[in-house]
Parts: sequence; structure tokens; C-alpha cells
Amino acid sequence: MRRTHRCGEVTKKDLDKNVVLNGWVKRTRDLGGMLFLDLRDISGVVQVFFDNEKTELYEAAKKLRMEDVIEVTGQVRAREEKNINPNMSTGEIEVGATGLTVLSKSEVPPFVISDAENASEELRFEYRYLDLRNEKAMNAMVLRSKAVMKVRNYFQRHNFIDIETPILNKSTPEGARDYIVPSRIHKGKFYALPQSPQIFKQILMVAGFDRYIQMARCFRDEDLRADRQPEFTQIDAEMSFIEQEDIFEIIEGLMVELWDLIDVKLSPPFPRLTWQEAMERYGTDRPDTRFGIELVDITKAAQETGLDMFKGENNVTKAIVAPGASEWSRKVIDELTEEAKKMGAKGLLWIKMEETEVKSSILKTLGEEKTRTLAVAAGAKTGDVALIVSDSFLKASKVLGHLRLVTGEKLELIDKNKFNFLWVYDFPLFEWSEEEQRYSATHHAFTSPREEDLDKLETSPESVLSQAYDLVCNGTELGGGSIRIHRPDIQKKVFKALGISEEEAEEKFGFLLKALKYGAPPHGGIAFGMDRIVAFLAWEDSIRAVIAFPKTTSAYCPLSDTPSEVGTKALDELNITLKK
Ligand code: ASP
Repeated sequence: MRRTHRCGEVTKKDLDKNVVLNGWVKRTRDLGGMLFLDLRDISGVVQVFFDNEKTELYEAAKKLRMEDVIEVTGQVRAREEKNINPNMSTGEIEVGATGLTVLSKSEVPPFVISDAENASEELRFEYRYLDLRNEKAMNAMVLRSKAVMKVRNYFQRHNFIDIETPILNKSTPEGARDYIVPSRIHKGKFYALPQSPQIFKQILMVAGFDRYIQMARCFRDEDLRADRQPEFTQIDAEMSFIEQEDIFEIIEGLMVELWDLIDVKLSPPFPRLTWQEAMERYGTDRPDTRFGIELVDITKAAQETGLDMFKGENNVTKAIVAPGASEWSRKVIDELTEEAKKMGAKGLLWIKMEETEVKSSILKTLGEEKTRTLAVAAGAKTGDVALIVSDSFLKASKVLGHLRLVTGEKLELIDKNKFNFLWVYDFPLFEWSEEEQRYSATHHAFTSPREEDLDKLETSPESVLSQAYDLVCNGTELGGGSIRIHRPDIQKKVFKALGISEEEAEEKFGFLLKALKYGAPPHGGIAFGMDRIVAFLAWEDSIRAVIAFPKTTSAYCPLSDTPSEVGTKALDELNITLKK
């Protein structure tokens, strides 16, 4: 028998039709003499009805267990008025069974599919095929497929060419650690899995492809923090003969189409903030603008108090105001202080502007009047709390940027139904790494300095701004990119500033440097975390929910028990001996 309908697609217009359905038994309810069965496939659920007149059939149905795979033949009929379920696409009908075939039995599943969210993640990943049967999980994958189609169509319409770049690459670790693959043929040598197709897409521009796009699988061997995956998908794009503005326009158009999938209308152009402004106002390069509370610089007012703690040479004093938070208990203030310290602050000053009095961590030292003046400088009114940090610009900004988010959550100021996009640009080209005592690239080594900063590359690298940009949504970085260096002489200077010797540059990136000598067009591009975008569209917090076969936070796949050991034969062929 061939299937005539998918379960979720049988409706009132099929009344009296004979149908053949396939699917999984979601559940059965035996009311003694009649048995209702919910049959599920990817399209939804339909109610099947067995009555005991046809005894053999009824007895067979009674033996069905959750997740058995069956074929049902039957006739569509209207449900009784009182049984109509307006929440189901098939809620007005049911199928009176006339035949039943068990196609496959199921063992008792380790969790009930519709209750998968209450099972542990490890268990869900081990039985991911069951986890994916859950409507929400399945819908997320369907949505992902639609999003991928959108992306491909969009870029094709805009003359982008889809090109695959190699997975077996040269190891050129900069940002993260590479995943390494030993070569059998070239003994003692290794390939690396791509962290991004960066160099190849630039070389494609040199080749003259003009506009490139790829859904690129990327690999980074990092210690997995919260929501990272060792492999992930990027929408990777590159364009020639363009400026930053062209990238913004193309990408804004793409976001409009993607968010259209969930009926959210975005209206570009998205707001733009320089990195400096983002740090000053929000204390982060990925501001969440769904709520107010901006950072205020109160250095002057702080210095006027005469207190030593505000006087350090490179000190700035910054503040945020938690509106109407003067009811906060000591416990909340302690919590915030802990958060500030976790971010590296020496401490947190707070001033509570209560109805009748001022309370503060510096009341004793400063006295009421000066304390009040400081709070007012921060913009606090009666009923508010001012939180103050005095430190270097970056430290004070970052600490308060974090406290701003904590405050926004605590006071429930964040509208979770909003999507606030914005661009951050004019990033510093380099950032100083205390740990390594050298500069590293803020974006990556191929990012172009701003034209007007070129002559500062050698004299004051820390003040050079780059042509890098990030797209931020609700405080999350969705993607980032840059206009690239297309002149070998500038590329060399940047390597030098990064402390990469000529030999090292030649050894690692020689093939790019060579390509740049053969007519490289000005070019730039961007890459987006596809997983993150789909998670947003699916209203999921974690990217794991929108990846078919995700790994755990320890980069482990419980489904296939990966990674695993390999036999001595394979190791021998690779000329590899494992250390004891
Ligand atoms: N390749 C960069 C990254 O993966 C993005 C870009 O510059 O296009 O972050």
C-alpha cells in the first residue's frame, strides 16, 4: 500500500476518503471498547480510532507501544463537536481504522519524545534520533533547511558564486588551535581542518571571481566554552571592488530575508557604532540595545571629590544607573560586586538614592553631600542606584558593560521579543596581549588598516584603526569581517607589527603573499555563524538545538562515541606512535 497522506495533512476536505498513513505511535488511549491512537510523522499528528466491533484490529492496536512504526488504513470522519481540537491541523477529523500493519517495533525509549526537554543533554544526544522526533527539534531542523535555501537564493540573485574550498589545509594557527590530520603519504606531515576559508576566499578574489559565497564548515579546537561547537557552519562571503558600505547593504538585505522566515520585519539600514562609541556607551563591542542604561563618564566629578582612588594617571571613572533599584538588598549589591571582581575590577562603588537618605559604600569617606553629587553626576535620581568603577578605560568600561547586562536582566528591562541589529566598525587593528606580551590582530592578520592610519603602523600600532566590522544582534556577535589588505607591502608591515618574522610569514602565508603579487583587486568580506542565526530564528538559546548531530561541551559525540581510538595498523601506516 502506498501512503496517501502525511499525518498532519489530513483535513476536513478529506472527509469520507480512504487514506493510507505511515508514522510513529505517539501514544494510545484505551477507553475499553474504543482505542485512540495519535500517529505522528514529520508533518504532524493525526488521531486514529479503533473500535471493538472489528475485534482483531482492536486487539492488534492494543498491542502497540510508543514509537512503533505502523501503517494504518482507514476512513476520514468528522470528530464529534466536543472532541474538536483547534490546536491541531487535524483537530477536526479522525481516521477510523480499517487496517493495521506493524512495520517496525520500538523498544521502550529512554525518554518520552514529547518530554525530551526534561531528559539530560547527554542522553538526548546519545539518542539524538529520538530527540529529533520531538516536534520542536524537528521544526528547528526544517527551519534551518529553509534558512539555508534563503541564503543560497539570495546570494545567487546577487551574482555570488558558490565555491567549495579545501577541508584538508595547511596548518596556520593564529586565533584558535587547529584540528590536525596526519598524512599517510607524506610521513611526518599534517593537514589541518579549516578554521575558516579565509585565505582561499581571498585567493578566489585574486582569481577574479568577484563575489564568492560558501556555506563553510569550520573547525576550531578550543576549550569549549558554554555555547561553542568544535565544528560549525559559517555563511562565508567575499567581494571585490567594494567598500565597507557595500558589505553592510548586501548583508542587511540578507538579514531582512532571513527574519522574514519568522515574520519579523527588519528595517535597514541598521544603526552603526564605532568601536570607541560602543565601548564608551555600552562597555562592550557587542552592545545589547534592547534596553537603555548607558555608561556615563564621571571622571571629572570623581576627581573633584578629592579622593585618591579617583586620581590614578590613566584612571577613568564610569558609572551606570540602575533605575528604581534602591530596594536592592545587600545581597544583590554583594552579588554585583562579585560580578565586578570576576571581570577584574578592584571593587565596586555603589550609591543608593533612597527616598529619605543616601546609602553608599563610600558614604563614610565622602560624606552625604559629595556622595549625592557623584550619584547625580552619574544621572541617578531618587529611587535609583548608581554603580561606579574607577580603572583604566577598557577595564572600567568592560566591568560596567557586564554589570549593565546583569542589571538589565535583574530589573527585567530587556524586551525578549525584539531583534536589535547594529554594526560595530572602526575596531582597533591590534590588541595588546598581556599574556604573550605582544600585539595580536583584533580581527585577523589580513584585515586592512584604515587608509588614514597607514603611516602609524610602525610608529604607534596601538592607535591604528582597522576596516573591520561586526554585525551584532541583541548583544550577540552574529558575524564579522573586514576589508582586506591587497598590497603585499602593507601585509608585510602588519605581519611585522604582529611580531611575525619574514621567514614565518613566508612559511605560513607565502602562498597568499605570492598571490597578492599577481594583480590582487581591493576586496573584503564577512562570515556569519549560521548556527547562531538559526538559533535566533528558532527562538533557541543554544546552537546545539539547531545542529542535527551536536557535540557536548567536551567535544564529544555520545551518539557515535566520538572521538575514539584507532588501531595500531592505522597508526603504523601514519608512522605514529602514541606516548605512554
Ligand atoms: N574569516 C573570518 C572569520 O571566520 C571572517 C571574515 O573576515 O570574513 O571570522
